[in-house]
Amino acid sequence: MNPSKSPLTTNISPELSAKTEQFTESVIREMTRLAIQYKAVNLSQGFPDFPAPIEIKRAAQDAIAADINQYAITWGAKSLRNAIAEKFSRSNGVSIDPEREITVCCGSTEAMMSAMMAIINPGDEVVVFEPFYENYGPDAILSGAQPRFVKLHAPDWKFDPQQLAAVFGPQTKAIILNTPNNPTGKVFERPELEQIRDLCVRWNVFAITDEIYEHMLYDGAKHISMATVDGMRDRTITINALSKTYSVTGWRVGWAIAPAEATSAIRKVHDFLTVGAAAPLQEAGAAALHFPQDYYDTLAREYTVRRDRLLGILTDAGFHCFKPRGAYYIMTDISSFGFPDDVAFAKYLVKEIGVAAVPGSSFYRNPADGRTHLRFTFCKTEKTFQAAAERLAKLKVGSGTRLK
Ligand code: GLN
Repeated sequence: MNPSKSPLTTNISPELSAKTEQFTESVIREMTRLAIQYKAVNLSQGFPDFPAPIEIKRAAQDAIAADINQYAITWGAKSLRNAIAEKFSRSNGVSIDPEREITVCCGSTEAMMSAMMAIINPGDEVVVFEPFYENYGPDAILSGAQPRFVKLHAPDWKFDPQQLAAVFGPQTKAIILNTPNNPTGKVFERPELEQIRDLCVRWNVFAITDEIYEHMLYDGAKHISMATVDGMRDRTITINALSKTYSVTGWRVGWAIAPAEATSAIRKVHDFLTVGAAAPLQEAGAAALHFPQDYYDTLAREYTVRRDRLLGILTDAGFHCFKPRGAYYIMTDISSFGFPDDVAFAKYLVKEIGVAAVPGSSFYRNPADGRTHLRFTFCKTEKTFQAAAERLAKLKVGSGTRLK
């Protein structure tokens, strides 16, 4: 029978969630799909195209062979929580209780979402520095928070302390911080963190701090974990993951470190969202977190070489680059190419030149604010850089104007 003739079918579908209508699919992940479609060199989504360390892969294989294949404890395997606590105290000098202050999640994405859902009530506002990693927008909408944006100003991505103070108030529940920062490469410095701390204390606000790029630091930049700033230990939720530090973005193992009360709320949200992260990969994570300091020093050194390589390629191709001090992205200014906006340029680049990057507008609430920017990632091999350099050599300053 033709289903359209059935008396049970109508043309009216049930209404969808109004929340999901307020945001689009991820532009970053869309650019990866376009890169595949056009066989472009993918410098858009931040994932390494080189192998993960052999030790972490072996640990995962061993864990599967040892039959660690059933649910881990919902809020994280004990071995991983212990390793997270030990590493956090080693890196930051702050001790945390692995039994009461850690929730292991499916990547930092889920850790951030669970943290937001655990603390937000209707009417609450969340302060977000702009440009921001695109997930924070939908995180706010889905958790029911009203975002209040504060600009980081190029070229050094400083914020105006008065603008920051002006958005804090009785409705403020949290500030989202990301240091080292995606997409700008800014590393927040102590005086800045103390200004943020003063406002958090004054208005009784949480800091949710995404520190996933903590080990990617250049030119002597130092990472300061917000939880270590005087007065912030008990109002900071620190988000991190295996993904970037150990080059395993597809494993989806992340965590939230938070004071005990907040942790019990985060654990409840996490439990009903996903139950738990992959058990054998948590065991492998525990092994990785015990890597010696040399691993992190080498990581930073290798990323410095990659950063400088991509800075050279982009500068030669006519981009104005904002030199990052941390993380693994380069934000660029594309004005000299003469395209109407960042999306038009990104499309031209992926289709005609064969290089994928992320349009700057995806990091701003108002797309016009990002229209002169494009973000490139450098967590890539020399082979990839070589291919990108060859393709970008075809790009001409002013090529956008000539197309019109
Ligand atoms: N954090 C990475 C980026 O900004 C990857 C984002 C993602 O797709 N989860 O590109």
